[in-house]
Amino acid sequence: MKNLLGGKGANLAEMASIGLPVPPGFTLTTEVCTHFYQNDCQYPKELEQQVEKALNLVESRTGRKFGDSTNPLLVSVRSGARASMPGMMDTVLNLGLNDTTVEALAKKSGDRRFAFDSYRRFVQMYSDVVLGIEINHFEKHLERAKEKRGVKQDCELLPEDLEKLVKSYKAVVQLELGEEFPEDPKAQLWGAVGAVFNSWMNQRAKTHRSLHDIPEWWGTAVNVQAMVFGNMGNDCATGVAFTRDPSTGKNEFYGEFLVNAQGEDVVAGIRTPQELTIRARQSHGSDLPSLEEVMPNIFRELLSVRSQLETHYKDMQDIEFTIQQGKLYMLQTRNGKRTAPAALQIAVDMANEGLITKSQALLSLKPDLIDQLLHPTLDPKAKKEIIAKGLPASPGAAGGKVVFSADEAVRRCKDGEKVILVRIETSPDDIHGLHAAEGVLTTRGGMTSHAAVVARGMGRPCVAGAGSITVDYAAAKLTVGSVTVTEGQILTIDGSKGEVMVGEVPTVPPQLSGSFGTIMQWADEVRDMKVRANAETPADARQAKEFGAEGIGLVRTEHMFFEGQRIVAMRQMILATDEADRRQALDKLLVMQREDITELFRIMDGNPVTVRLLDPPLHEFIPHTEAEMALVAKAAGVPLDRVRRRAAELQEANPMLGHRGCRLAITYPEICEMQARAIFEAAAEVGRSSKKLPVAEVMVPLVATVEELKLLKGVIEKTADAVKKEQGITFTYKIGTMIELPRAALQAGRLAEMAEFFSFGTNDLTQTTYGLSRDDAGSFLPEYKAKGIVEHDPFVSLDPEGVGELITMAVQRGRSTRPEMKMGICGEHGGDPASIEVCEKIGLDYVSCSPFRVPVARLAAAQSALKTKGEQTKQSSTKATKPRVQNFGPW
Ligand code: PEP
Ligand code: MG
Repeated sequence: MKNLLGGKGANLAEMASIGLPVPPGFTLTTEVCTHFYQNDCQYPKELEQQVEKALNLVESRTGRKFGDSTNPLLVSVRSGARASMPGMMDTVLNLGLNDTTVEALAKKSGDRRFAFDSYRRFVQMYSDVVLGIEINHFEKHLERAKEKRGVKQDCELLPEDLEKLVKSYKAVVQLELGEEFPEDPKAQLWGAVGAVFNSWMNQRAKTHRSLHDIPEWWGTAVNVQAMVFGNMGNDCATGVAFTRDPSTGKNEFYGEFLVNAQGEDVVAGIRTPQELTIRARQSHGSDLPSLEEVMPNIFRELLSVRSQLETHYKDMQDIEFTIQQGKLYMLQTRNGKRTAPAALQIAVDMANEGLITKSQALLSLKPDLIDQLLHPTLDPKAKKEIIAKGLPASPGAAGGKVVFSADEAVRRCKDGEKVILVRIETSPDDIHGLHAAEGVLTTRGGMTSHAAVVARGMGRPCVAGAGSITVDYAAAKLTVGSVTVTEGQILTIDGSKGEVMVGEVPTVPPQLSGSFGTIMQWADEVRDMKVRANAETPADARQAKEFGAEGIGLVRTEHMFFEGQRIVAMRQMILATDEADRRQALDKLLVMQREDITELFRIMDGNPVTVRLLDPPLHEFIPHTEAEMALVAKAAGVPLDRVRRRAAELQEANPMLGHRGCRLAITYPEICEMQARAIFEAAAEVGRSSKKLPVAEVMVPLVATVEELKLLKGVIEKTADAVKKEQGITFTYKIGTMIELPRAALQAGRLAEMAEFFSFGTNDLTQTTYGLSRDDAGSFLPEYKAKGIVEHDPFVSLDPEGVGELITMAVQRGRSTRPEMKMGICGEHGGDPASIEVCEKIGLDYVSCSPFRVPVARLAAAQSALKTKGEQTKQSSTKATKPRVQNFGPW
């Protein structure tokens, strides 16, 4: 019931229902939040009564009463959306404390210091979160109290100091707001509930939602839960753990805890946490005893919780626990965030352990994770000067200019600079900077600190807690030993080893682990669609093949002419004023084209290679500068003035809808002839010298009418016959067309009479279906997204209702003419997991994408096949139920 109860609430209820020790509590549903925002921040009328009832149940279960003078119930009030949004929304702990209940707490715990410390923390937290008073107002008083007492640490303050602090804190509230701090626990409760709902709309939460595609209408739930204390003495502790190692995926219990502490102490990284197991303590060389040694019975209980949770959730869990006076309580569980290598390792291990099926293992992986696996690492041969070491918080290596604030990171990133964000520690307010940076370095905090968790989630390399570095924000510099690095200087970090280096250290492409191979193999076993690559250069083709591409789905031949002397010949061809001049340039291009295509056929070794006829949007190729024009004039042996004039003539107002695609070859058939010759001569050459025959597919772009295709098909076939005759060899080939204009989709039935295959060019098809320019839409699409007019950029994720409909229709019409016709997609959408799912539903035979996305596409194609076949893992119910409030806890 995650949708209704939020992730935290649903998991608390679920843990309680499988018999784990969860402090009792209740959840106000996400529907209350939705109602709140739809009704001018008013609650549903039945809410108050339902909360009252739920609270009574918690009181009876704990044997405590809210506001009671001898045995008071204290609660935590925490947010919990459907998707985890760590640190984005507000929390209030120790709620229910006032001048009366604090005395009862002191008496019951026998620890006046503890009671007043809790009270002080509560007043500060409540004032910050609910009353909106800035924390530094309180910190001043805390510092003064420590000075007066002559101590450094908060924990060295005496009970009477804390008692006085509470009074000064309350005076701050009176001064700032002109009203008393609320003493009535019920008023406190409703204040906190309102603050949590309000925090759904704070800037941090909004940014997080937009970065993670979390819709605003989901809302958050609010969890109210009886407090348990990990800071009531040395038989108390609090900790966090992952049921497996979130960094490597190893099946080892992994976590940290602190004796006599509250949860926030672990996360804040102020005290050095202790390891859970003896093994981890030894391997990290820690002097502090592990939980296994300090509290062996609790450790055993926690181990059994670990296996119970994994058996139940069938996934690695991230848990929070508290030990209060020798008793273990579970405060949270959720599917743990993990690095990409760990995700694969865990999926493979769990399937091998029989905990999940292979299909479930495949479905458990977000295809984008694969992207992170392909991150570069430091070149082991490269010289590096390590200036500091921290924790290896998120893998991958990155270099860039040092910045010390999130805003600066964003500013420089917009200017095209690569930056490393360096902070003492990060907070959710830094989220935009973490996103903009190549990597993150912090000087404080552990593996579960904010920077570590967020960077891991985003796939950014991160080194956390590099304590030997001193950061001076005001002077915008960091120092470590005798080294000083100022803003703008370059640092490299290695998030896999925790190393920090000055200057740029070269990187090497990633080495893929065994579990990557296993997952890819399992994916290949279940997917229906083939995965090809869009590639023009031999290097790209080889990379694609290594990543498992089963052919090339698009050779953009014009991209073969971007570099060096090649672009000059290409420009000479485009700017030629008569056929003779054009043929002179084409002869040069033929040699290059034939060489490249021969190489591609060889690399693809019997797999299909779809070569598209030239489709150069003219504005990308016409020379702009005098120097560029002079080069063309020289190559063509014509006066510069003629080149200038021709370049001016060829300017187009709408080049994306201009003289490009097949239109160029219709006007100048000799271009088509040269290209067909290059392809067929390459096919003849490879056919003669290789064991496997090349599979040549000639593709005509931007076709709108059958007549266009008919004319060019004639030129291609005539050239094929000529080459066969000249070379005295036969070869097979196919002629097909791209479907990238709505008219082509409508005419698909007739086009299929001519075309032997279709490839959907969804970049142009999106452009022409929406009537949005590919080049100009970027200036207003973000506004469309922000206003909810489109959910995704349609150039990134295929629009299923418009473009998808046209493809569906074209597939049906094409196949009704030619039933066995092969059809694929080669627009950028071919590497986007959501679009790949649309392609599977439509029934395409293959997707084609850039080489680095091939592994992502293989996994996404497998998942799409499994989902379409209905092998989906059981989804939690999304059905709304009537009650606004739901209790949980061992009853
Ligand atoms: C397309 O339009 O989707 C396509 C693949 O061609 P290009 O991006 O080269 O126009
Ligand atoms: Mg196109």
